[in-house]
Amino acid sequence: MEQIGYIQPLQHEPSNPVIYHLTLGNERIRLNEALGNTIQITFLGEKACSYCGRKIKKTYNNGSCYPCYINRAENDLCIVKPELCHYQAGTCRDQAFGEKHCMQTHYVYLALSSDVKIGITRKTNAFKRWIDQGAISAIPIMEVPTRKIAGEIEAHLAQYIKDKTNWRKMLKNEISDENLLEVRERLLDHIPPSYSDYLLSEKQIYEFTYPQISAPTKMTSLNLDKQTFISGKLLGIKAQYLILDQGVLNIRKHTGYKIALQC
Ligand SMILES: [Zn+2]
Repeated sequence: MEQIGYIQPLQHEPSNPVIYHLTLGNERIRLNEALGNTIQITFLGEKACSYCGRKIKKTYNNGSCYPCYINRAENDLCIVKPELCHYQAGTCRDQAFGEKHCMQTHYVYLALSSDVKIGITRKTNAFKRWIDQGAISAIPIMEVPTRKIAGEIEAHLAQYIKDKTNWRKMLKNEISDENLLEVRERLLDHIPPSYSDYLLSEKQIYEFTYPQISAPTKMTSLNLDKQTFISGKLLGIKAQYLILDQGVLNIRKHTGYKIALQC
């Protein structure tokens, strides 16, 4: 069957393995069921802003038109550098967004996606965050009242531990065998006393597996601007990637691209 629509990031449900959906037009496509099938993606040459819907030639920051990139709170610098959150200074681009996304309980967490990394997430969004990064395990280590505080702790601890995922290693399942609880133990010495009230002592590690029928064979990063037709066998789905035998496709990066999908 062929479905046509504008790409939105992959949706998922935490299950074992994770269940993935791609919504195109009015259809919600169950991607796990397409594992092992040859899928075809044709870029139809149109792009639209995922916020305001206007037709555009180029997307900014995964799916925005230029005005939305400049004006939307979702695209502010403090989204990638949360320690710069300026809500309390009264200059948030969107008060309601700030209240809902930033002035909320956050976790500082450790996750294993390639190496152990530190990250932050809204508490209620934690599973989504971990799966979007392709983590195979994760543990919250601190619970704090705002995104800004979480960002300050993360920026501080990033001196001692990675804060980025190596996506090639993550997709190839080249994953460090470090133990999250041991890493947490080591990091405790580096947490400034002013933040120690926020420490969690829970021992539960959350684990995730991803739908995959074989290891990736080709790590070429597919790009619909360069190659408007992609055909390949779907070997797996992890983080925001479709792993095809012809290469890997970052779906989030193509948010707003109009495609026809056959699977
Ligand atoms: Zn827009």
